[in-house]
Amino acid sequence: MDNAEIADKLEAFASLLELADANAYAARAYRRAAETIRGAAVPVEPLVKSGRVRELRGIGRGIESRLRELVETGEIAELAELERDLSPDLVGLGRYLGLGAKRSVEIARALDVRTADELREAAAAGRLKDVPGIGPKTEAQLLEALSREDEPRPRRGLLLNRAWELVGGIASALGGEAAGDVRRWRDSCEHLAVVCAARDPGQLLGRFAALPQVVAVVEQAERRIVGVTVEGVPVELVVAAPDRFGTALVRATGSTAYVAALEPLPDAPDEAGVYRALSIPWCPPELREEPFREEPPPLVEQEDIRGDLHCHTTWSDGRMSVEEMGRAARDRGYDYLAICDHTPAVGAVRGLTPDDVRRQGDEIAAANELLAPFRLLRGIECDILPDGRLDLPDDVLSELDWVQASVHGGQRMPVREMTKRVEEALRNPYVRCLSHPKGRYINRRPENALDLDRLFEVALEEGVALEVNGLPDRLDLSGEHVRGALRAGVPIVCSTDAHSVQGLGNMTLSVATARRGWATTADVVNTGPLKSILR
Ligand SMILES: [Zn+2]
Ligand SMILES: [Zn+2]
Repeated sequence: MDNAEIADKLEAFASLLELADANAYAARAYRRAAETIRGAAVPVEPLVKSGRVRELRGIGRGIESRLRELVETGEIAELAELERDLSPDLVGLGRYLGLGAKRSVEIARALDVRTADELREAAAAGRLKDVPGIGPKTEAQLLEALSREDEPRPRRGLLLNRAWELVGGIASALGGEAAGDVRRWRDSCEHLAVVCAARDPGQLLGRFAALPQVVAVVEQAERRIVGVTVEGVPVELVVAAPDRFGTALVRATGSTAYVAALEPLPDAPDEAGVYRALSIPWCPPELREEPFREEPPPLVEQEDIRGDLHCHTTWSDGRMSVEEMGRAARDRGYDYLAICDHTPAVGAVRGLTPDDVRRQGDEIAAANELLAPFRLLRGIECDILPDGRLDLPDDVLSELDWVQASVHGGQRMPVREMTKRVEEALRNPYVRCLSHPKGRYINRRPENALDLDRLFEVALEEGVALEVNGLPDRLDLSGEHVRGALRAGVPIVCSTDAHSVQGLGNMTLSVATARRGWATTADVVNTGPLKSILR
């Protein structure tokens, strides 16, 4: 048995333990062991046989005995048993319907069914209401969810970073393209899809079903398969004939309204061919939300960004020093980076007092000596107090290169008060940008009550820019509101709000969100050179 085969078995075991709602720690331990074995430089089978496998990182006594069983018998008995008991496809279907694994197994026992297909049949025959605990209302909900199986959606959208990780991972494992909501960079992704090209789809459909990300198949047709992840998130694979790959990609990318307006789609091997045959210009996926056939505007690109204007350091809740953040930004090819730590009113984390701001200024100056001509900007993310005043006095703000203002506490104000509060802050002569203007956390906290049109007016009058915050759970302004701001003539800033060096990578999310709002290079403040920032 080679390392990959051993790792696959351990991974399957981990997935089944998760499905069984067993000890989460055990499942993680098996997954980690699988990873170690997959990456091991030496063959693992002889190590198991000679009793030395525990020298590998993360392999303890329990896992060692499973490995011995596997190497000696070619099987893990408990894995086979779990597979018999659990029928992962049934549990996956259950999760997708909103049922926990235990409940799915109970229902299956009560109905005496073993597979997802048998469950569907029993449901169609009206037998669900025979199960203890399922009333007419639950039955109706389950039947309704089952009827929507051919257009599967997760119960809650996935954040864009997680959706890219999942869909991008599957696409690269199968040599296909990511499509669906991630390709349009929607802030919360529901339709997760991958498109591949092959004359004969069988092999790809099989490889998809065997991917570690996919625990159960809920739907299969000749050139299409839908699997669910262990969290019950459905992912679709479309295998197009090579001469129709472009057509399948346009269709799977969506949105539904955009594609419907282009139908009937001509067959073509790539997207460019589809658009040529339609005699319309190619359309960036970020703009495919509504019917559109015109020449697209020259949207801002990642390469146009000259610097990042919002990040944190260990002075507040960041994890890296001023200098480390500066080096990382310089390594990304930026010309500048604004250090914008919090002020005391933020509450939950440390904030900078006027004295701290000045001491941090010395540290930034010292780092600039080392990093020149790259430039760290002295900035701040200054809290907007409930009455609209700022959390630092004007004489401190006046020393800084870049002042961002943001609302953190007291976000449940009614719309008039909240709008007034933010308006007041934008009137401060030192404020250059409003951070995460709407204050939402995707799927967790709704937007602040704000009259955005009024804010656009004030921002325009005061020359204040609005941020497109790149944190995956914020993406604030959203694309739709970026478009509103730009129509009103208000410029935007693409920022990451990074709390670590890795966080700087979220610029892709910010730029994509700006593109969804039709932003061109000229609309984005930080596509400009340093001197345009230091006005
Ligand atoms: Zn903030
Ligand atoms: Zn911040």
